[in-house]
Amino acid sequence: MTLRFGTAGSPLSTTGKGRNAGVARSIELGFGCQELEFVHGVNINDEDAANIKALANNNDFIVTAHGPYYINLNAIESAKKHASMHRIVQTARALEKCGGTSCTFHPGFYMKMDHEHVYRNIKERMKEVVRKLRDEGNTVTISPETTGKPTQFGSLQELIRLAQDVEGLGICVDFAHLHARSNGKYNTANEFREVLESIEAGLGKKHLKSMHLHISGINYGEKGEKNHLPLRESDLAWQALLKTLKEFKARGTIICESPTLEKDAALLQQTYDELGK
Ligand SMILES: [Zn+2]
Repeated sequence: MTLRFGTAGSPLSTTGKGRNAGVARSIELGFGCQELEFVHGVNINDEDAANIKALANNNDFIVTAHGPYYINLNAIESAKKHASMHRIVQTARALEKCGGTSCTFHPGFYMKMDHEHVYRNIKERMKEVVRKLRDEGNTVTISPETTGKPTQFGSLQELIRLAQDVEGLGICVDFAHLHARSNGKYNTANEFREVLESIEAGLGKKHLKSMHLHISGINYGEKGEKNHLPLRESDLAWQALLKTLKEFKARGTIICESPTLEKDAALLQQTYDELGK
């Protein structure tokens, strides 16, 4: 097992059409993973999915997926709540067809409700989603993501607790989001260590060996995340973060969502590789 690097969606330099061309380009560029972006809806046909699965299997490549933005597991209206759950199920089904491992999404909003109440709502809905998928024989890990705004459910502590309470649930740690939602914290070697230590304490050492991570530059303010930035134009201490991941012997996938996609994914990969020399 290794720590793999890759882009969120097809690299910008992809010339062919379709998601499989993007995966082929990632492999050509020497990356070890890619996140399939279904952020505006889950749209992939069976043929493309089968092609991606074959490409991944033949090239020791891992695909993950990002579900639609229109998900709020804390929605009050029943229709919205069920549509949200369905979008996660659809993402996991698509990812399974692509032979992928872990599916992430932004779980929902507090809607000015008591955070403990929101936690219970989201926990029950996550249980239903996982149960439905496992009943179908779907084995994809469902990994809610740490979110970038303080109005969004998804602090590190909430997600660790959720993964403890719901069998079959993982977590996706977006370090840019952690940094933005706290308006600048989570940006020193000690703070990165605290993150990894709390994951290890909460979910066990095994979780550090199959991580689903996002690292990108980010612009933020008091209300959290504004937009992604190239790493070198951001204040994220990504070198210290990579060092800490190495120190903890973290394994899994690191997805880069910077606007420069493959340029920054390659920068992360190269910097990490050079740490060992
Ligand atoms: Zn995300």
